Amino acid sequence: MAVSADFAVVLAGGKISVEARPIEGETPMQFAERFVADPRTAGQILGLPGQPSLGRSVVVPYPLLADDVKLAAIRALFPADVRATAGWLHIAVTEESLSAIAEWFTGRAGLAAALAKENGLAGDSASRGTTVRIPTEHLLRPFRDADALDETEPPQLSYGEDEKGRFALYRLRKKEALYSAVVVRFTGRVHAADVIELANAIAVRSGVDDVHAIPVGFPIRIPLDLLSEEYLPPDDPRAQALARERAETAQFALPAQAKGLSGVRIVVDAGHGGRDTGTIHGGIWEATYVYDVAARLRKILVEQTQAEVVLTTRDSGKGWKVVEKDRLPSSKSQSLLTNPLYDLSDPVVGVNLRWYLANSLLKRPGPAKKRISPERTVFISIHADSLHPSLRGAMVYVPGERFLRERYGKRGAPFASFKEWREQPVVSFNRRDRVASEGASTALAGKIVASMRRSGLAVHPFSPVRTHVIRAGREWVPAVLRYNQIPNRVLLEIANLGNDEDRALVLTRRFRQQVAEAAAAGLMEYFGAVGRRPPT
Ligand SMILES: [Zn+2]
Repeated sequence: MAVSADFAVVLAGGKISVEARPIEGETPMQFAERFVADPRTAGQILGLPGQPSLGRSVVVPYPLLADDVKLAAIRALFPADVRATAGWLHIAVTEESLSAIAEWFTGRAGLAAALAKENGLAGDSASRGTTVRIPTEHLLRPFRDADALDETEPPQLSYGEDEKGRFALYRLRKKEALYSAVVVRFTGRVHAADVIELANAIAVRSGVDDVHAIPVGFPIRIPLDLLSEEYLPPDDPRAQALARERAETAQFALPAQAKGLSGVRIVVDAGHGGRDTGTIHGGIWEATYVYDVAARLRKILVEQTQAEVVLTTRDSGKGWKVVEKDRLPSSKSQSLLTNPLYDLSDPVVGVNLRWYLANSLLKRPGPAKKRISPERTVFISIHADSLHPSLRGAMVYVPGERFLRERYGKRGAPFASFKEWREQPVVSFNRRDRVASEGASTALAGKIVASMRRSGLAVHPFSPVRTHVIRAGREWVPAVLRYNQIPNRVLLEIANLGNDEDRALVLTRRFRQQVAEAAAAGLMEYFGAVGRRPPT
């Protein structure tokens, strides 16, 4: 099973191995380190027959792989497997021994007998097509966490074709509305104008007269070209491209380990600020409240971890002090901490200067002049959404590899007056940078989303982690992530200010504190550190 030109997974003689080679821009050591959990065993991979180099593959046995890479391999090899609430449902593709299955999913071949008992299987193998359930408590960590990015109950879609072309067919269930249950879920659109436009188009296509009175069970037809990739039929080329992209980027979902976030730099970017208010709903400025979440996140990280915390903006009045009030006064006194300071008078210039600032930070030494590796640097931009009012909860954007360019730079005024621009006016990314940042950022986003869910915070019900924005017929990665070189970078939308319930929550300091704590816990978990206390 070839995942990409550089990565293939092989099942032969009942054993899994991965055949891989360094990708463009990657040294043999970097290559070795992304496959193993413990950097000390990276040497073992370098010593494998063939010795990895650009253009030359090595075969890595499954047990040597880091757990996240194991998950990527299993996903590629067994696309029909399902992570269900009750555990992992593995469908045997050939006659498979239970001890091999136990080894693949739990890391302990000795659990074979337990699996046989659990699944009512006689003997020590599963024949082709048998479903073997591996209970959640035995699963390797990444397999256990795998559901965090998926829906708990996958919706039932079927596919058909009529004179207007191919479509996916969905039957509305009780209490489901066309806007949220169909358009938002299956097309990925979240902005109000897009949702309304597509709902009308889909209603017409399906022969619906009144979108507010669609009977339960009514067959809704969604044209395939409007469908999000994850819902396409498996034989569609776009679906196959997505499966390959996921498997390839997942190889990089392997963060550096850092106890207590020691040696880690976290760049916290409060969206907008100064004269840029961000979205405004009912007199509430996005900038005011996301700045408060950023200040709270800074405080938690400074007090509870050893991370170096760097904010991109600062309020000249209250500084980064956390104000213990629910409703906050609107303030335009934040500036971007470039050299010289920028008053954020032009939002577009502000966004571009943020990534110039991030790229400059990447080169600055840490405390005590120590170098901080890019792998231990995080950029987290905090925003609040303005979406269709039916939507609630948080969402995280990561830089989708397909949407990144190789080179980019702004020219001349007003950028030339900033030190950060003069240091590196043009930024470039090789393929490894792009693939690795999507993989690492997706893993980080997954930890933040899982942490928010554990704290009982609302998370967008469908695809809370997204590789790009879809709006008004265009697709893109937010600029603050797109040209940013920090490998672990996410944009967290804490809530939808267009939704009344979400907006009321944003106006409470309790909610803002919970979001900050959940984000901090997600960061700690990403680097393998255990938080001092669970988020309250
Ligand atoms: Zn924003």
